[in-house]
Amino acid sequence: MGAEPAGSEGSAAPRELRFAVVGAGMAGILSAIKLTEAGFTHLTVYEKADRLGGTWRENTYPGIACDVPSHLYRYSFAPNPDWSHTFSPGDEIEAYFEQVAKDHDVERCIRFGEEVTRCAFVDGRWHLETAKGTHDVVDVVIAATGVLHQPKYPDIDGLDTFEGHAFHSARWDHRVPLEGARVGVIGNGSSGVQICGAIVDRVQHLTLFQRTAQWITPQDNVPYTEAEKDDFRRHPEKMHELHAGIAQLFAEGFGNAVVDADSVHMRNIEDTCRLHLEEKVKDPELCEKLRPDYRAACKRLVVSGDFYDAIQQPNAELVTEAIERIEPHGVRTCDGRLHELDVLVLATGFRVDAFMRPMSVIGHDGVTLADAWADRPIAYLSISIPDFPNFFMLNGPNGPVGNFSLIEVAELQFGYVMQLVERLHSGECREINATHDATERFEAARTEAAKSTIWASGCRSWYLDDRGVPSTWPWTFDTFRAEMAAPDLGAYDLR
Ligand code: NAP
Repeated sequence: MGAEPAGSEGSAAPRELRFAVVGAGMAGILSAIKLTEAGFTHLTVYEKADRLGGTWRENTYPGIACDVPSHLYRYSFAPNPDWSHTFSPGDEIEAYFEQVAKDHDVERCIRFGEEVTRCAFVDGRWHLETAKGTHDVVDVVIAATGVLHQPKYPDIDGLDTFEGHAFHSARWDHRVPLEGARVGVIGNGSSGVQICGAIVDRVQHLTLFQRTAQWITPQDNVPYTEAEKDDFRRHPEKMHELHAGIAQLFAEGFGNAVVDADSVHMRNIEDTCRLHLEEKVKDPELCEKLRPDYRAACKRLVVSGDFYDAIQQPNAELVTEAIERIEPHGVRTCDGRLHELDVLVLATGFRVDAFMRPMSVIGHDGVTLADAWADRPIAYLSISIPDFPNFFMLNGPNGPVGNFSLIEVAELQFGYVMQLVERLHSGECREINATHDATERFEAARTEAAKSTIWASGCRSWYLDDRGVPSTWPWTFDTFRAEMAAPDLGAYDLR
């Protein structure tokens, strides 16, 4: 070990710890920076791709942007005066992560092109294997593997018979020209809506296949002027003030609203969305087609300032008739109509219960992740799984998702994990994981609280598990922050 890790003063025999971080996206970069800062130098980040960046590396579709304001969607230790817009585009966000990683010399500990395929706890340590055949033995694993990383392809008859170009929104094929093309988009979630807004002016014809209407909250995406950026550079406290203001607005206006379906703030969100639709869409028939029949924010709220304009362009068409099948020349809807297409975009979302899978994880006494998650993914506070010692997840199952900054979520979780790691480092214990009892009690409380959230108010969404229970953090963000402040060691097995 290099420098003495922070907080180890006075401990008789600090234990050297070796770490593996799985994934070099936002949370993996964070882990590498924070572990290094704490003095832990035996650290490898395994990244399956040849570049870092996670979701911002993989999603490059036209119009991709973060719908969380830029000054909120940033590491607390790396405020960025150079954001171009209130909501910055995806490539700028990817460049931000690359820059932060460079500034903190993170790449030196990343092994690119190394997908961890197996991770087994044997004789008190984790034994990792990668697809390339690398073996590693570590004390602590941090799974920073992201949430939405496995594209979900729709199960529609004939998809493989399409003779044009078809690809998933998260696998955009930039070689395919859009200019002059007849483009179909299946799906109107956050991705589909952003894509429609960005491509309508480029394509000959745009057809959006909408299965369920979405509530869309307006977005005013104002560019920052050079004078404002300069001001941020010279007075960083102004960025902090801006961050604090937005964070409070998000927590009160959104975070606290969605967990109480009957709250005033929740009604305000609904009014805003309804007004947005009715003011923007003048044709009553189209307006009704675009009007959802469930409550706003039940599905993840879509944020867009240009979608309603896009779908009203003369070359755009909203199709609400169900899709019957896909044919060589296009999409056949149930009314018998063939929508002829050159390009078909599948903005159909992600397999949301994968987390670190397909990595095979084997804990104490041969217990596999497949056993532990036979019903569905669960973890104590989203972080620790019983029988999987010294294995911690960032942005794991049932955590705060929704329109939050997942960076702040990961930072809070990491601070919590480090307090557990300190027990290992100080020699107080060699293994630490949540107990079955604590995990079951947490899950029972979580599922009960989830019933009064907006996500349980009656709609189909990726937030719902196989039982229809929201797989999210059902309390306020303040509660999450308080929970992350310090672990309750009574919930853990320390051996
Ligand atoms: P999504 O929200 O899961 O939306 C998938 C869309 O595909 C829905 O409209 C769904 O219809 C439709 N669909 C799926 N299967 C279909 C089928 N067989 N036939 C017809 N339609 C089908 O996926 P997403 O838009 O990629 O967004 C996923 C999440 O990624 C978001 O909720 C958000 O958390 C994140 N995201 C964030 C941003 C951002 O700005 N920060 C941008 C993009 C994505 P139904 O509604 O009827 O199920």
